[in-house]
Amino acid sequence: MLGYTNEKQGSAFWQDLLANRIETAEELEGRLGLKIPRLREIIRKYPMRISPHYLSLIKEKNDPIYKQCVPDPAELENDRGLVDPLAEERFSPLPGLTRRYPDRVLFLVSDQCATYCRFCNRKRKVGRRGTVTKETIQEGLRYIKAHKEVRDVLLSGGDPLLLETPQLETILRYLRDIPHVQIIRIGTRVPCVLPQRVTPSLVSMLKKYHPLYINTHFNHPKEITPESAKACSMLADAGIPLGCQTVLLRGVNDSVKTIKQLMEGLVRIRARPYYLFQADQARGTAHFWTPLDTGLEIISALQGNVSGLCIPHFCVDLPGGGGKVLLTPESIQERQKDALIIKNFEGELYEYPIYS
Ligand SMILES: *Cc1c(COP(=O)(O)O)cnc(C)c1O
Ligand code: SF4
Repeated sequence: MLGYTNEKQGSAFWQDLLANRIETAEELEGRLGLKIPRLREIIRKYPMRISPHYLSLIKEKNDPIYKQCVPDPAELENDRGLVDPLAEERFSPLPGLTRRYPDRVLFLVSDQCATYCRFCNRKRKVGRRGTVTKETIQEGLRYIKAHKEVRDVLLSGGDPLLLETPQLETILRYLRDIPHVQIIRIGTRVPCVLPQRVTPSLVSMLKKYHPLYINTHFNHPKEITPESAKACSMLADAGIPLGCQTVLLRGVNDSVKTIKQLMEGLVRIRARPYYLFQADQARGTAHFWTPLDTGLEIISALQGNVSGLCIPHFCVDLPGGGGKVLLTPESIQERQKDALIIKNFEGELYEYPIYS
């Protein structure tokens, strides 16, 4: 039923762009004109991919775009954190489907992204062939059909918009035919890293499956380009409400000034800030972690200074599968020397270690 491949087909413009992505050490060092220590070793462990569009946004070594996509030896050297920080596997009734809440599921429909973010919390999975297959997709769809309590399906990955339009449509059509599925959501970084993928034919397909929401992912004001603005406005014009999930990243966007500019820019391109995430404690990403207080300070600095439209929820996904919790001063029950005790949505207490 569902063909699965993101590769090598068609000659549409976005596919040509995707075909020109950077994936090898030689290509990257050639394009950047510099040597990166242990690059080949890092890529063997955690795949690299950079779309031509995203690469073109790098202006100098270690700028905010560079840090998000160019492998760093710290990925190998700092082994703090967990391979599966959110215990997604523990809450997976099937491979590729996570059910942490009664009414909604996270459903992985692609294992490819247009650019692999070095801070990704699914670093263990993305870019590895065969984590998502047509069998896992079919079984996921059957599960959703058989579970009437699931009213909200969040398609994720990898990036669902890297599927071919007809493949994605097959999934959407199947979901839309299930009476208890009220809302379909797509989580995608395409508007940021491969905005050319948002084509008129994609958009006219998507708008047949309302109510459909898209949450995109921008982390820095420099990512808001004319191409991204165009992609977002095409989606918004098709009646798709756009949200944005941003990850707070050390050395990339961990300041009030940068987050404020980003949030204002997002509202301008019609993507409503939704979550500002504390970076998950995934192994190989410790160099991106910020102290929890940084996020709290940024949110309180935004309050009163920008419109409420520009203020996302500061949110932490509790390690070990506690689920998402909005961090406000009230959710912090106790402060210990090296940890905060945080109450989750079920009233249970979790310990969140502070690395600062
Ligand atoms: C983030 C997430 C969701 C969706 O959460 P919302 O707060 O509704 O956006 C659903 N399931 C899982 C497993 C998640 O991680
Ligand atoms: S686009 Fe999302 S899933 Fe893909 S690498 Fe980036 S953070 Fe991970």
